[in-house]
Amino acid sequence: MTRSEKTTFRQIIHLDLDAFYCAVEEQLDPSLTGLPFAVGGRPDQRGVVSSCSYAARAQGVRSAMPTARALHLCPQLKIVSPHYKTYHEASRKVMARVRAVTDLVEQISVDEAFIEVSDLSEDAESIGRRLQTEIRKELDLPNSLGIATNKLVAKIANDVGKAAKRSGSPPNALTVVPSGQEAEFLAPLPVEMLWGVGPKTAEKLALMEIHTIGDLAAISDYNLSKRFGKIGWDLARRAKGIDNRPIVTEREAKSISQEVTYVKDVHDGEKLRQTMRKQALNVAKQLKKQELVARTVKLKIRWPDFSTPTRQTTLAKPTSDGEIIAQAAIKLFEQIWQRGKAVRLIGVGVSGLSQPPQQLGLWDRDWDKERRIQEAIGKLQDQFGDQVISRGFLENEE
Ligand SMILES: [Mg+2]
Repeated sequence: MTRSEKTTFRQIIHLDLDAFYCAVEEQLDPSLTGLPFAVGGRPDQRGVVSSCSYAARAQGVRSAMPTARALHLCPQLKIVSPHYKTYHEASRKVMARVRAVTDLVEQISVDEAFIEVSDLSEDAESIGRRLQTEIRKELDLPNSLGIATNKLVAKIANDVGKAAKRSGSPPNALTVVPSGQEAEFLAPLPVEMLWGVGPKTAEKLALMEIHTIGDLAAISDYNLSKRFGKIGWDLARRAKGIDNRPIVTEREAKSISQEVTYVKDVHDGEKLRQTMRKQALNVAKQLKKQELVARTVKLKIRWPDFSTPTRQTTLAKPTSDGEIIAQAAIKLFEQIWQRGKAVRLIGVGVSGLSQPPQQLGLWDRDWDKERRIQEAIGKLQDQFGDQVISRGFLENEE
């Protein structure tokens, strides 16, 4: 039996809205369009920048920067208070458009998602281009796409495509890394752009004269594993542009929890807190094993009369850190437990699971890292010409 000429590699689109909060603010107040402005907290209240317009970025303003510093860099910067409800409504509309294309969508934040289109008959680039235009024209939200055969390369392609557009307006970039060119595309990029390379690892790698992803790819898997343990094997694969992680939809990864029913009811607050801490650490271990982070922490408690209240809280940032989960659970516990009250069952769980956005998406959050990477890309471009990183990818018409 012969199979049709269908592609055998995967096709992943990474979608990222450009300066999303600012784009929504421009819809609310069109007079902001083109101006340097930032959504964030007021400088006299030690606020930080949540999102900044491209005109503001052109003057050095970045996300996560203290508002006071941003105003110092750009004195005419206008500070706008956030309208989170409106952002969430806009985000829902975007994700509905995306889900109209396929069910295989992994939303990783309010303005970012991976979309797997491997099984659709149309090629990823035409699907992406149409989606991009639709979101930009019909929802009035500029957005950039990265397209590759896996999540890692699609995300980095998008980051690179956005950074390469050095102008004062939204990039609306579309960056494609064709199948087979993953390693070649990654090779000139700074090693810090690789998922899993934090400042400490980057420092160790620099001591080994490893600065680019290509430098890393040239080291043998064995040597990397000797120096870095298990993460060394992962780094070796990622440096070559290999990433087999699936799209995780919310339906598949619902929740992880642990609970215990005591043989004898427990009155001792310290013992209950210890149990919750242990449960949180086990939940965190499960999360790490599955390479997931959680957005919501839940507490379940059963009183001796068998009534079973639950409480939940949303974290500021998704996490797989046991200590953060424990603290959130204990805080919930303190809200419903009175000293000395007997407890029959206690459980800690997490939901709202996704794959680590803070590692894949540092771009929007860590302006210092962003600046370093942008400088590195700029240097590469100065040294070898624009084609060094634009090779193998297309930019959108602007
Ligand atoms: Mg964004």
